[in-house]
This record gives sequence, structure tokens and C-alpha cells, in this order.
Amino acid sequence: MNILVINCGSSSIKFKLFSMPENTLVASGLIEKIGGTDATINYSKGTSIFRETRKVSDHRQGLEIIAKLLTDPERGVVKNLSEIKGIGHRVVHGGEEFTGSMLIDEKVKNKIKEFIPLAPLHNPPNMEGIIASEKYFPESVQVACFDTAFHTTISPVAYLYAIPYRFYQEYRIRRYGFHGTSHRYVARRFAQLMGRHKYDVNLITCHLGNGCSITAVKNGRSIDTSMGFTPLEGLVMGTRSGDIDPGIILYFVENLGIKPSEVNKILNKESGLAGISGVSNDFRSIVESASKGNKMAELAIEIFCYRVKKYIGAYLAVLSRTDGIVFTAGIGENQPVVREKSLQGLEELGIIIDREKNKNCTATEQEISSPESKIKVFVIPTNEELAIASDTYEFAKKQGRI
Ligand code: AMP
Repeated sequence: MNILVINCGSSSIKFKLFSMPENTLVASGLIEKIGGTDATINYSKGTSIFRETRKVSDHRQGLEIIAKLLTDPERGVVKNLSEIKGIGHRVVHGGEEFTGSMLIDEKVKNKIKEFIPLAPLHNPPNMEGIIASEKYFPESVQVACFDTAFHTTISPVAYLYAIPYRFYQEYRIRRYGFHGTSHRYVARRFAQLMGRHKYDVNLITCHLGNGCSITAVKNGRSIDTSMGFTPLEGLVMGTRSGDIDPGIILYFVENLGIKPSEVNKILNKESGLAGISGVSNDFRSIVESASKGNKMAELAIEIFCYRVKKYIGAYLAVLSRTDGIVFTAGIGENQPVVREKSLQGLEELGIIIDREKNKNCTATEQEISSPESKIKVFVIPTNEELAIASDTYEFAKKQGRI
């Protein structure tokens, strides 16, 4: 069964077509710079690659292009779009409402719209993608998979901020957490690798990419996570600050006369690794610069890893018993230095990594702890699209599309 996964960003659409239940990637692509006359279209099927630069006005037109590519007599993978039984949409915010993936109907769409103030940059393009794919793939089951869903098991003790309770009651200001599909995927994979039931593992999942978050998973369920009301809280990220004293924001506004829109830009786009290093938001460039003696790049790496370690310590305390720690996403999968520094000195707590295994492990699923480590440490490449495809496949099966 063919399942298409769609991830609409503000000016981009990523897509992957899987054959399920074999979990095989059949075709994939990315349209960027939507809204401009020089949008880029990248599409690949097996080893053949197609690239084009052209005008793509909006997400609707982007979806139309994807539908045409997938059915193209030469480049396509299906004869007819009705062969695509399900479309899985990544939706960033599902509020408190959606505890798992949902079959999309009018009610679900209205809720996604209702959550726009909580994710003003993400939910609108996600909605556009849904509406367009209903138009171009009318026979496919449409499923929404929410970044927030995995974290809906977090209790009020961990999700409430210590601000007047009315802000939660009236405005639903609380911790939501993000990257849920990734944390869930690697947590389930870890359970499989341990030969345990998915609800029989306690672990800490570190999603370290351009955006970073870390989650405490107890009995297979998220019980705390570092991102909060927005994706700005928690770890140091590519361009986001992560945790800061909220007093700094007041100081910016009241003493330095910085406008709220500028504060937003500083904390979301100019902080994190980029802000400290002054080099880049890309970890590779920072490592390269540090190796050439750039002290600020070195410091950025140290601060990044120190924050990861602090959260690991906190979540070890919260979990009481921890079976494993998993590193995933661009940095987590590819930067041994981050894994080593984040776990350095935690031997007394039962975490001992094998330095050689760690050094040689990039982007492969592997245990990197030594046999005497009480807590297993793994690198597990994330695959959010496959997780979305699996959920969509289950819905398509239930709807009798096989
Ligand atoms: P993501 O958001 O998961 O794509 O991760 C982006 C971050 O991962 C950037 O900081 C990259 O420098 C880093 N990254 C991605 N791929 C690699 C790689 N092959 N080697 C080292 N770092 C990488």
C-alpha cells in the first residue's frame, strides 16, 4: 500500500512516498522557496534525481506539482493517484486535544485552525497542505500526526508553569512539548532493540538537530520534555536560546528599549549556537572553527553539551530507574563529541560509554555504551516520516483501503 507523507513548512513542502507495511521508501522530494518565482523542486526516485527551478505560488500549487510528479509516465511511481491510499500530514500543534494521530475530518480541521495562535508559523501551512491534498488526492485517507501528541501524557506537575493559574485556565498556557513523533519513534525502537514491550522501558531521548529537545519517557510514555509552551524553551539550539531567565526579556524591553518583535528575532533566530559562536548555526561549521582555535566556537560546544548534561541529570532524577539514553537527529546522530561531552562524568550514575564505539558511530543505529554500563546508550537515527507513514497505514487499514 502506498502512503504519502507530507510536511508543509512556511515556504516548503517535504514529501516521502512509502510502500507499507514493508516500510520501503519509494520516492521523495522537497519544494523550497514557495511563494517566489525561483522555487526549487527536488524529486528523487531510486537513483534518479529531478531538479527544477520555477514559480510556485503557494502550497496548493506545490501539492499539484507533487501529484503530477508522482503520476508522471517517466518519473512517476504510480499510474493513478488513487493508488496512494493514505496521506499522512505532519501537524505541529494539536493542543491538549489530540493525544494521537487522527483521521482528518471537519472537526479536526477546525481544531487545527483553533490552535493557530499556539503555532502561528506552523499550523497555517500545515492546514494549507491538508486542504490542497484533499483536493488533489480525494480518494486517499487523510491523517494528521501531531508533534505535540506524544507529550499529552505529561502530568500537570510537569506541564504547569508557576504563573497565576488563570493563564492556564483562560489561555491554556502550559508546556506542550514538540518533536513528539521523533521521541516516540526512537523510544519504540529502543524498546524493540531491548526486546521489551513498548510500555516497559524508561529512557531519556535526546533529539539534537537544528531544533533540540530532550524527553523523559517512563513506561513508554512522555512524562516531561524540555520544549515548552513554544519550541523556544530548553536546550541550546542552532539559533534559539533555550532556557533563559524571563527577567532578561523584561530587561530587553524595559531597559534596552528593544521591541517585542525584535526580542522574538533575537531569541529565535540570533541566539543559540549561532549567537554564542558568532560562526554559524550549523554544528559542523562550529566544530571546524573550534578545531582551528576559535575560542567562541569552543565555548558554544561546551555550553551546548553542558545544557544537555543538566537535563539528563534532571531526567535521571525524575525517572528513578533509567534503562537507556538515546541520541538522535542531525547532531545526536553525527557528532560523537556531543555525546561524549554530554555524558562525561556520569559514570557514578551508571553511564559508561565506549569511546571507540562512540567515535566511530555516525548516523547508524548502534549501542555506544560499554558492557558494564548500567544504563544503555544508543544512537538511533530518527525517522519521523516513517512513523507518520505507519500511523497513516493503520488508519487506511481500518478504513478498509487494502
Ligand atoms: P537536523 O535539524 O536534524 O537536520 O540537524 C541539523 C544539525 O545537525 C546541524 O547542526 C548539522 O551541523 C548537524 N549535522 C547534520 N548532519 C551532519 C553530519 N553528517 N555530520 C555532522 N553534523 C551533522
